Amino acid sequence: MIIDVHAHIDLLPEKKAKEIQEDKKIKIVVSNSVNLGSCKKNLEISKKYPKIKFAAGLYPEESLTLDKYKEFEEFLLKNKKEIVAIGEIGLDKTEKLDFEFQKEIFVKQLDFARNLNLPVIIHTRKTEKEVLEILEKFPELKIVLHCFSGNFKFVKEGIELGCYFSIPTNVVKSEHFQKMLTVVPKEKILTETDSPYLSPFPEKKNEPAFITESIKKISEIWKTPKEETEKLIEKNFERIFL
Ligand SMILES: [Zn+2]
Repeated sequence: MIIDVHAHIDLLPEKKAKEIQEDKKIKIVVSNSVNLGSCKKNLEISKKYPKIKFAAGLYPEESLTLDKYKEFEEFLLKNKKEIVAIGEIGLDKTEKLDFEFQKEIFVKQLDFARNLNLPVIIHTRKTEKEVLEILEKFPELKIVLHCFSGNFKFVKEGIELGCYFSIPTNVVKSEHFQKMLTVVPKEKILTETDSPYLSPFPEKKNEPAFITESIKKISEIWKTPKEETEKLIEKNFERIFL
């Protein structure tokens, strides 16, 4: 069955959430949040559609303040039973928010995840070096590097830190992710869509069902039957999230 560890279901029309719930091929979708508003939406969605799980997080963005951070943490503590991961968190040099402040918020969320023993789902656009340096200080954390585009020196560092890598649906055409599947141990591979982004079909918004395309590609590279590929990824998911 399909596992999607990184989607933004709050950004899709609600009928998609219903479709996901009814789709027999989909096992679990982790809906990631980027701010307090999306945390609230994803929490609601996860209560209504049990296959969709709630990941809470603050993505580095321009409007973030310490007051907003406090409000976020209070919200999390109140709803901690519903949270399966802290995400989407990380660093991003293309965002306008001050980089040192981004780091402060990122570290606070890593600390929070460690205290609650929750896995983290991490965004690293153009910040692989800085993110890995920080993660080194959190050896007890279970880490998913989402859509990791860093070079293979950083991929190797991530492997050494014990990170999991979630492979996006654009693996169908991306040589980078295809190569990653030959370098990262199979036990560390997960699948994701980043829905509604990164669609393998240019004319359509991405959605969890499209992971069947990734499974085809991964099976081809691993030379394993599709059922075996799916089972392996399910097991990897269970090891980190359950
Ligand atoms: Zn995302």
